[in-house]
Amino acid sequence: MRKNIVAGNWKMNTTVAEGVKLAHEVNQAVVAAGDSLKCDVIIGVPFTHLTAVAGHISAIGLAAENCADHLSGAYTGEVSAPMVASTGATHVILGHSERREYYHETNEMLKTKVDLALEAGLKVIFCCGESLAQRKDGSYFDVIKAELVESLFHLSADQFKNIVIAYEPIWAIGTGETATSDQAQEIHAFIRGLLADKYGKDVANDTTILYGGSCKPSNAPELFAKPDIDGGLIGGASLKADSFMGIVTAF
Ligand code: PEP
Repeated sequence: MRKNIVAGNWKMNTTVAEGVKLAHEVNQAVVAAGDSLKCDVIIGVPFTHLTAVAGHISAIGLAAENCADHLSGAYTGEVSAPMVASTGATHVILGHSERREYYHETNEMLKTKVDLALEAGLKVIFCCGESLAQRKDGSYFDVIKAELVESLFHLSADQFKNIVIAYEPIWAIGTGETATSDQAQEIHAFIRGLLADKYGKDVANDTTILYGGSCKPSNAPELFAKPDIDGGLIGGASLKADSFMGIVTAF
């Protein structure tokens, strides 16, 4: 059966010292909560923080927020998937809408990144989701389907065990406007249906699908109560240990 997961995405926030402190606080809170927690916890941190943070956590997973679409070589400023894995990171977030929009990441490029990440032994938190215009013009089912089909559906069922999907409606990210739990559930069920059509019911039922977009302690319980919502990818509310833990304990 699939895992519940709450993952933080710190984006471009915190110095290394601040990040180590935050990671330590989250880790200690997870250790203290012990078996009472009903989800795995992951923090997504800037590249510069990975090695230091890895040395201060024991009970939570660690994700990079991106990796390069090349393995190695003359790509100044890039960080490859094997480099990420060598820090002790367990996961990488790929396809976040901010990367798609500001850094022009395409479905094709993300397909390459997914392959390189899996080859490096990382699990992938793969983001998909529609803009406000796409929600309004009704094309959002097609947009989400294309993102999944073009970047993930070349994978084998076995490889898919290392994929977590995060549905993040762009209009809800960092805006304070959350998708209603019914809106989110509709898309999560749609995504699970696509997985069932492609890979069969077992893979579909075993795949964790997270919701992301202004998730906070006050709305997490209602979202996480939906049958196809298996946790959250959390931006702003992951930058303080108490608000992040308020979401982690929402199950
Ligand atoms: C995100 O960036 O993945 C996100 C969900 O951000 P926020 O929680 O701040 O909306």
